[in-house]
Amino acid sequence: MEFTLKTPVSFLKGVGKKRYDALKKSGIETLSDLAFLFPSSYRSGKVFQVAPERVGLFSYFHLTVDTAPFIANIKGRGPVLRYVASDEEGNRVQVLHFHQPYLKNKILKGESLYFGGILQERKGVYYLFSPSMDKKMPDQTALLPIYPKTAGLSSGQIKELISQFLISLLPQIKETLPEKVLRFMDLCPLSRAIYYLHNPIDEEKVEEAKKRLAFEELFRFSVKSTLFSRENEKITVSPYENSDLTPFLSQLPFSMTGAQKRVVEEIRSDLCGDVPVNPMDRLLQGDVGSGKTAVAAAAAYLAAINSKSTLVMAPTEILAAQHYRAFSAFLSPFPYKVYLITGSTGKKERERIYGEIEGGAPYILIGTHALIEEKTRISGVGLAITDEQHRFGVRHRTRLSAKGGAVHSLVMSATPIPRSLAMFLHARSRISVIDELPPGRKEISTFYIGEDKIERLMRFLDEKIKEGGQAYIVCPLIEDSEDVNPLISATEELEEIRKALPHIESALLHGKMKPEEKRLVMEDFKQGKTKILVSTTVIEVGVDVPKATVMVVRCAERFGLSQLHQLRGRVGRGSDQSYCILVSSHSGKSARERLKKMCDCHDGFELARFDLETRGPGEFFGTRQSGFGSSSLIGSFSMEMIQKAGEAARMFLEEASPEEIAVYQENFRLN
Ligand code: ADP
Ligand code: MG
Repeated sequence: MEFTLKTPVSFLKGVGKKRYDALKKSGIETLSDLAFLFPSSYRSGKVFQVAPERVGLFSYFHLTVDTAPFIANIKGRGPVLRYVASDEEGNRVQVLHFHQPYLKNKILKGESLYFGGILQERKGVYYLFSPSMDKKMPDQTALLPIYPKTAGLSSGQIKELISQFLISLLPQIKETLPEKVLRFMDLCPLSRAIYYLHNPIDEEKVEEAKKRLAFEELFRFSVKSTLFSRENEKITVSPYENSDLTPFLSQLPFSMTGAQKRVVEEIRSDLCGDVPVNPMDRLLQGDVGSGKTAVAAAAAYLAAINSKSTLVMAPTEILAAQHYRAFSAFLSPFPYKVYLITGSTGKKERERIYGEIEGGAPYILIGTHALIEEKTRISGVGLAITDEQHRFGVRHRTRLSAKGGAVHSLVMSATPIPRSLAMFLHARSRISVIDELPPGRKEISTFYIGEDKIERLMRFLDEKIKEGGQAYIVCPLIEDSEDVNPLISATEELEEIRKALPHIESALLHGKMKPEEKRLVMEDFKQGKTKILVSTTVIEVGVDVPKATVMVVRCAERFGLSQLHQLRGRVGRGSDQSYCILVSSHSGKSARERLKKMCDCHDGFELARFDLETRGPGEFFGTRQSGFGSSSLIGSFSMEMIQKAGEAARMFLEEASPEEIAVYQENFRLN
């Protein structure tokens, strides 16, 4: 049979019913879906010495097995095969194989093998977890595409499936970028880019292909964003008549900083006036702790005195609950009801709230982002406030305004990004910046220490907790390794803490926990029942715990400076001196420079600039942070490319007819 891009993957050799169902579940139904499933990385066959520069990267090592493998049982992880191996220079590596006890008799002491895996390091000890092993030297010339784990298929299996059809279908892949833009940017056609990604001839070709796709993503985003702004400019709403904020401001427990006042004014002029206005489309940037919530509450107050309701959306339930407390406090003297609805709100409570809302009085409804999906019962909303925390306020902007016509939108982001980047992300939307912290904040003392200082760190933690403080310990997720249980480091960390400080209550928080479990763990920490919170991810940044005075970040070199700065902002919320301790034994020069910068610099914008200069904008677009799709390619572009993409989008939109724009938008959906 003739394959087309629309052919279901079930027509491929090796895809039976079971596999087809699994693929379908992962969103892969047609050959086109497979063609667009890109490798997440490439491996070369190069063989390395065991060295700090290789930590966190996939590498091949030529190692000799030094000790006879033995099977250990680690609690909750099943049998683990362990042994020590070393390279020609005598650098030792601990090798662990999980759930592969049968390897015991296959690996012999004294044998030399090529090991492939991601080198890990903890406290100066190197580890390889479930590496591949081969007697033969890996192929030195080829690049091997590594696909993300999909539907239980291995990378090799995915590669094989794609090879069954890709070349013959290449001519069918429609070009998605306008001809002119391709030429303007000197980019390769989509079909060629796709071919190179799956068949990496050399690194140059892979780069060319990545550039093509990253550019397209930026271009699309820019077109969408510009069109959104244009649409927004066509809509007008009546301005709010009542602009008197005095009652709100005069009852605040503090007086607003100059920066807060300025931003409140900017919002007021968006919302109030004598002539019809475009719906507000404003990004509010401000460092952690700069007081964005009070500004947002002022906006909600303005809406309420003009009989309009406000929706406040937060990225997590914990943050939603925190906003609920803050808004309730700020608005308590006024007759406006504040409600909280999250995934864990019971049905009865939910019904009660919806019942009250239907009464028509202006209210403030706070919840997680999922709240906006519940379009049906929410009415009378005039203002939507989105707290994106470490996103950049791009993802929810369009969705919300698509919903109920003219809704004013205020998006808050705690990651200060340089204006040029913010302008790109928001097309013509307005940007307000709170660039001043409330008075009396103590600078958070920041230190950068090596793994060898952990014992001293434990004593320090002990001391600070005795003084009444609490501590966070953040461990990075080890994400792209296929075999490593991502929780291993935080779990181990907790065990170590419990061993070193047995008299101190500590707990674990990780992304795989259910919202209710997370809430309980957080609640205990907030109330001071647990003193040390070990966390795998940064999901709960934004939480306000005044007694938390120490933030420890393990493997700190893996985080961007903006992210570290946000983590640091979790402490120093009370009146006590707070500390941020960055732990890293990474010996790379740039890693060291970056961590040193963290110790001296406390200005989020300055750190963001530094990141931009030293690591490029990819830092700000890491998939988890950005509002973009899932592309793993997005990291590979420069600030210059961002500007070019914006230029190209404007050029295209200026010259293209509405029909051409429609065709272009249609093209996206074709392949
Ligand atoms: P963020 O911008 O990170 O969301 P918050 O709005 O949570 O910051 O504010 C951090 C803390 O500072 C809160 O406890 C808030 O009540 C307090 N705060 C906000 N503005 C001021 C101010 N002008 N003076 C003193 N404290 C303030
Ligand atoms: Mg906040």
